[in-house]
Amino acid sequence: MRFPLLEKHGLQDMPFTCAQCSFCQVGHGSCPTYKVKRLDSYSGKGKMLLARALVQGRIEPSEGLEGLRDAIFGCTLCGGCEEVCQVDIPFVKLYKLMRAEFRKRGMWPKNLEAARDTLLKTNNIQGQSQSDRIDGWSYWHPDEELVRSKIGRKAKTAFFFGCASSFKAVPIQATIATTLIMDKVQQDYTILGEDEWCCGAPMLMTGDFDTARKLAAHNIEKYKALGVERIVTNCPGCYKMWAHEYHELLNIEHPFEIEYGARYLADLFDSGKLNNLGRHTETSITFHDGCDAGRNSGFFEEPRKVIENLPGVSFEELPHNKNNCFCCGSGGVLRAIDNEFALKINQLKLKDIEQTSAEQVISACPSCVDFMQDQLPQAGSGKKSKDLAVLVAEALGFSWDGLKEAYPQ
Ligand code: SF4
Ligand code: SF4
Repeated sequence: MRFPLLEKHGLQDMPFTCAQCSFCQVGHGSCPTYKVKRLDSYSGKGKMLLARALVQGRIEPSEGLEGLRDAIFGCTLCGGCEEVCQVDIPFVKLYKLMRAEFRKRGMWPKNLEAARDTLLKTNNIQGQSQSDRIDGWSYWHPDEELVRSKIGRKAKTAFFFGCASSFKAVPIQATIATTLIMDKVQQDYTILGEDEWCCGAPMLMTGDFDTARKLAAHNIEKYKALGVERIVTNCPGCYKMWAHEYHELLNIEHPFEIEYGARYLADLFDSGKLNNLGRHTETSITFHDGCDAGRNSGFFEEPRKVIENLPGVSFEELPHNKNNCFCCGSGGVLRAIDNEFALKINQLKLKDIEQTSAEQVISACPSCVDFMQDQLPQAGSGKKSKDLAVLVAEALGFSWDGLKEAYPQ
């Protein structure tokens, strides 16, 4: 077997089930990479033909085949092909395993070597000092002492920030908003602070399973020592990692219940804990289903349930929504692999957003919100992108300095 990882996961026959109907190229127009490149190899069908040749040994990942390598890594792992394929190929899992096989043969994109080295030095994907995980959000949080008191304490519930929500001005607002909401409902919780390491998702998605395993083991041990039973996270990439990938791809077991942030918020409304909202927020919004939250994990109704509970908020779906939602371009670590390509995909997303009359595009993914908020002004749009947790905190009447800085009027 030339691609033993596919066999290990019982997927070696999957590439041969492709009927070559091309629906993954044209069905709902859902493959963002094919839409931009217009090359077969960038669609599900093209990658399955490549996988067949690799499994049969007709080609070997080696020098001179960088174009094929670029097609395997030039994918946002958005799951659009999985959604439309008539023969139910588990594409996203296959692509991760193929990336791991390319890496083993020395065919890892150069940018990823640098990203991995940085990650191993700093324990976060941003390459910043771990102390910034605390300094950034506590600096803007209205009650710095309160949030610092949560670090390293024993509690049954933990809030896992995730790298994407720890360092940058826009996504950090969702972290602040979530701690404000948790304190408002008197949630007893702990955070790891500097001891929180990357969950390993960027490495798993790009095929470095050993590094992902090392990072996962650290966080698991820290939570066990604090008596944690449940982990809440706003990042759907971290959610998917903790809830599924550790077990499915890394062969790691852990005892924790994993809760996605939008679901945590929906449950607070369901249980009546968030019913006395302080403010009537007059705004019009649309919602972007981040790929790892929506198509890849099935959280479509939870964020919509939260939105329904916000007085004064008028809601309009995007033209492509729920399982048909366009990827924002940041999935699959594409921004680190080929940022120009990711930007072209993002432009398609912005066109979809512009077709609505909404003032704000809300999402429950820090990476999507960050990318859209970064690019909307550059595209000349007056719309803003904001995290669902921030919208809820605003409806509760909270405002804080970081929010004003990230979203100047
Ligand atoms: S939709 Fe599925 S069966 Fe059809 S070409 Fe694409 S991968 Fe093959
Ligand atoms: S996962 Fe998304 S970007 Fe990758 S091939 Fe499938 S539809 Fe295209």
